[in-house]
Amino acid sequence: MKATAPMVEEHAQSTTSSQPTRKNDESMDENLCCICLENKPEIVLIPCGHAKFCQGCADMFKECPICRSTVVMKQRIFL
Ligand SMILES: [Zn+2]
Ligand SMILES: [Zn+2]
Repeated sequence: MKATAPMVEEHAQSTTSSQPTRKNDESMDENLCCICLENKPEIVLIPCGHAKFCQGCADMFKECPICRSTVVMKQRIFL
């Protein structure tokens, strides 16, 4: 008689990890830089007063992309 060798089968169980649903939708579009839509707006343009630009984007233009007025100053703001 032949002793059948016990087959060791490894059942790799695919553990379905629950996806971490992390939604940070508190910040709407209004709270994002209107240029890159990624960063928080923290610059207000003087004198026109438009303030929907992040630091990085504001550094790039010399006139307001909204009203086209010359930017005299870029004031840092904290929202
Ligand atoms: Zn930006
Ligand atoms: Zn403006």
